[in-house]
Amino acid sequence: MTAHSSLNPADLDKSGTRSHLGLPAMDVSLAFPQATPASVFPSCTSDYYHFDDLLTQEERDIRIKVRKCMEKEVAPIMARYWERAEFPFHVVPKLGTLRISGSTIKGYGCPGMSITGSAIATAEVARVDASCSTFILVHSSLAMLTIALCGSEQQKNRYLPSLAELSTVACWALTEPDYGSDASGLRTIATKVEGGWILEGQKRWIGNSTFADVLIIFARNTSTNQINGFIVKKDAPGLTASKIENKIGLRIVQNGDIIMKKVFVPDDDRLPGVNSFQDTNKVLAVSRVMVSWQPIGIAMGIYDICHRYLMERKQFGAPLAAFQINQQKLVQMLGNVQAMFLVGWRLCKLYEAGKMTPGHASLGKAWITKKARETAALGRELLGGNGILADFLVAKAFCDLEPIYTYEGTYEINSLVTGREVTGYAAFKPAASKPQRSRL
Ligand SMILES: Cc1cc2nc3c(=O)[nH]c(=O)nc-3n(C[C@H](O)[C@H](O)[C@H](O)COP(=O)(O)OP(=O)(O)OC[C@H]3O[C@@H](n4cnc5c(N)ncnc54)[C@H](O)[C@@H]3O)c2cc1C
Repeated sequence: MTAHSSLNPADLDKSGTRSHLGLPAMDVSLAFPQATPASVFPSCTSDYYHFDDLLTQEERDIRIKVRKCMEKEVAPIMARYWERAEFPFHVVPKLGTLRISGSTIKGYGCPGMSITGSAIATAEVARVDASCSTFILVHSSLAMLTIALCGSEQQKNRYLPSLAELSTVACWALTEPDYGSDASGLRTIATKVEGGWILEGQKRWIGNSTFADVLIIFARNTSTNQINGFIVKKDAPGLTASKIENKIGLRIVQNGDIIMKKVFVPDDDRLPGVNSFQDTNKVLAVSRVMVSWQPIGIAMGIYDICHRYLMERKQFGAPLAAFQINQQKLVQMLGNVQAMFLVGWRLCKLYEAGKMTPGHASLGKAWITKKARETAALGRELLGGNGILADFLVAKAFCDLEPIYTYEGTYEINSLVTGREVTGYAAFKPAASKPQRSRL
């Protein structure tokens, strides 16, 4: 525990004090005399190559708006919520006012921003808190996008406007206990009955599912044996979602196990555009680009806090920043961030030009996430003991990168997607039979 267990980060104002509550002012320097924690977020020093120049004015405006909100509203409270594995519901309306939900969707109350604008917003959320960015991505780039790309006009009009305002929240349920990487084998079934469908089965790991108003559920049509998509409401009889406990990463995100026992879904809530597993790829193509921007933002935040930390803290009579080995690590991190940003930016441009392939997106997601892990490990070393405290961001970000390395296709699966594209050989399934043991 830290030396300041009586200090509640939620009570701190922008300057890191709680004077606005009528309480005696408590400077964070009292709690952390060595250096400033992430509740007072560092300024952005990671944009070394002036990537702002690659953005339009509108995209730059989004960037600044999101950054300000995250630094003001989320940074002061995130370590506490992360440690307790609780979701800060009071922040949702503030995220709603950013108008980034349903980011690239045009119409239906959605902002209709460029994919680059959406990407930069994702990075700015993740720079401060990866859990918040996962909350928004699941809601927006998976659930809302599925409705936008695969839903009927009636469904889009009915669901998207309130989801765009974040006055309702959505989740996206593909993974099952026995079908993770092999999601196309999923076993949840949808049986046609008069006026609708009956869903039966289980889902696992589903972000936001414990409180989502709207659940996008993928199930196997018992007549066609193909995957279909459904919009299920949270109070549907037979539906339960329970929180998965003891995660070491993205602890603020509420991931759930969903059980469906004879859940009735009216015909109106079947997504007409999901008629096979391939149809999920329309959504995953975009969401994988967005997921690539999470580790970019996380690595930016890690660099930013490490830079400030090395300048603030002294050992052997000199700032940590003055030691050669520390500078080498810091510069390696900075180089990683520049390269990651450029790969992510190029992915957006390929997508906008209609040239992005699944292999491009998978390589981006896999490589960027790997580099972010390396960056986090270096940052964790630079912070010494504070490198294992959530209060200094790096330890939290270090852990948050682990699920990101795994979801939206693990590192290995994304490598195989690109490998298939560049070689023509699909290497997902091992040989059916084991090789004979040699008698020699
Ligand atoms: C925090 C978190 C949030 C998530 N949120 C959601 C969500 O909102 N909605 C949703 O639907 N899902 C979600 N997921 C599920 C996620 O997409 C899966 O965890 C992921 O696809 C991996 O599946 P798995 O965990 O079952 O691992 P497995 O598929 O069991 O893989 C285990 C290991 O084997 C490797 N492997 C598997 N198959 C192969 C192969 N053919 N070749 C080589 N290696 C292979 C994997 O790369 C991995 O290293 C989430 C997961 C986490 C951890």
